[in-house]
Amino acid sequence: MTETTDSIFDKIIRREIPADIVFEDEHLIAFKDISPQAPVHVLFVPKRGVRTLNDVAAGDAIVVGRLMLAAAAYAKAQGFAESGYRVLMNCNRDGGQTVFHIHLHLLAGRPLDSHFG
Ligand code: 5GP
Repeated sequence: MTETTDSIFDKIIRREIPADIVFEDEHLIAFKDISPQAPVHVLFVPKRGVRTLNDVAAGDAIVVGRLMLAAAAYAKAQGFAESGYRVLMNCNRDGGQTVFHIHLHLLAGRPLDSHFG
């Protein structure tokens, strides 16, 4: 896959700009969203990231899977397994994507709208 190296999230990964990092391993990093939409709003970001979900090849499915599992583990550890939480990924303009380095949003801590849009 063609990796992004110049996104704002790459700069966070390289510690060139600060972020409130809550989890990191060899594959991914997770940090609090700068503009939280819920009491818990964390972004899960692959260190070897591509621009959008469109750029994830079948052989890279594990990259997306790791984000999902890390978000679920974090939500469970924070006590949201039963009350619930939301994970989502935006893609391109109509999906509302603003940072072109794939990332999974984790939202928790308040009831979230049941509708989309
Ligand atoms: P998107 O709209 O691409 O799905 O989500 C991008 C998210 O990144 C937004 O929720 C936005 O608030 C967050 N964001 C943008 N720039 C920064 C930053 O410099 N630091 C952090 N922590 N979050 C950011």
